[in-house]
Amino acid sequence: MIERHPNFERLEPTYLFQKIHEKAQTAKKELLDLSIGDISLPLDPSIAEVLAEEALRLSKEIVGYGPSRGYAKLREAVQSHYYPMLSPDEIYISDGAKCDVGRLQLLFGTGRKIGVQDPTYPVYSDTALLLGAQEVIYLPCNRKSEYFVDIKNLPDLDILFLCSPNNPTGAAATREQLTELVKAAYEKEFLIIYDAAYADFIQNPELPKSIYEIEGAQNIAIEISSFSKSFGFTGLRLGWSVVPKALKYKNNAPLYKDWERIIQTFFNGPSCLAQKGGIVALSEVGLKAKKTAIETYLSNAKRLKESFRGFEVSGGDNSPYLWIYFPQMNSWEAFEFLLAEYGILSIPGSGFGKEGEGFIRLSGFSKWCTSCAFILEKKEIQECLLL
Ligand code: PLP
Repeated sequence: MIERHPNFERLEPTYLFQKIHEKAQTAKKELLDLSIGDISLPLDPSIAEVLAEEALRLSKEIVGYGPSRGYAKLREAVQSHYYPMLSPDEIYISDGAKCDVGRLQLLFGTGRKIGVQDPTYPVYSDTALLLGAQEVIYLPCNRKSEYFVDIKNLPDLDILFLCSPNNPTGAAATREQLTELVKAAYEKEFLIIYDAAYADFIQNPELPKSIYEIEGAQNIAIEISSFSKSFGFTGLRLGWSVVPKALKYKNNAPLYKDWERIIQTFFNGPSCLAQKGGIVALSEVGLKAKKTAIETYLSNAKRLKESFRGFEVSGGDNSPYLWIYFPQMNSWEAFEFLLAEYGILSIPGSGFGKEGEGFIRLSGFSKWCTSCAFILEKKEIQECLLL
């Protein structure tokens, strides 16, 4: 029989969510699940109606394959809503940001040095290891570095994955931080893949929502983003990548031509249903629904943050995630404590990387945030944990 690909040996076993699931199963009380990264509000009816119409249309006319890079109308809508500085030709519609993380790395082949934030969304490192990266370099993003990479001490890299607002730390990069990063990418000649999947959660007008708000970024950065969290498309699957025309290889050839080749070779474009839904999502009615959803998730996060008064908490203001530091415990101890005392299911921060030790991640996506905040306030968690 065929031998297993040795790159699978490079991955850590995926025990984190399994272990959390097992702990949840054995818990004796009803749980408040604050661990989720999935949506908890249904799709807006205006979008669902268009999906139903489109599904019926499929039984009446032949629709067939669409353009691999997505419908022009949707590319135009994404560009005009998110990227006034770019053209619709630079947008590529996909079946989600996660799928683009893997596909994009096909552009660069094996043997590259890939930088990721520590703690990190594990998909960047896992895809890099599977696809034959020479090395994945973990760049500490901790309390000391204000949850951003230490730009002055960056190692040699080919590619840096950067996520802002960040999963899991909830930190949103400032204009100054991104300006310094773009400068470093020029000097050290690495490419940035900027994951803006949570950009719609940014409320502070001073914070950039796209890396292309930074001068020069079009020459050194690819951006990926998603309809998943803001529009409730986690199940429908829709996202996009941005590869600016100005982004060139060392030999001055444009990168976008190869990206188009990869898309045509590995992908035939997202489902026509999801794309029709995406067009409505970016219309007036869809954008109104997005605003309501973001407000709901952020107000959940705010209540949670208030309940952890006195703790060091990152995120929750411009991000659905809260990253909470427990000075007296490691991540699993804090997880067990919250579970045993309050029936709260969290995610131990150490599951996202070494620098996550001592933290837990809570999520404003949870519909339990209000009851949880109520319980935490009543039982004065601060007194139990902070002393
Ligand atoms: N990027 C980050 C940072 C995420 O946290 C997630 C999902 O949790 C994704 C991408 C996945 O996005 P999509 O649903 O578009 O594949």
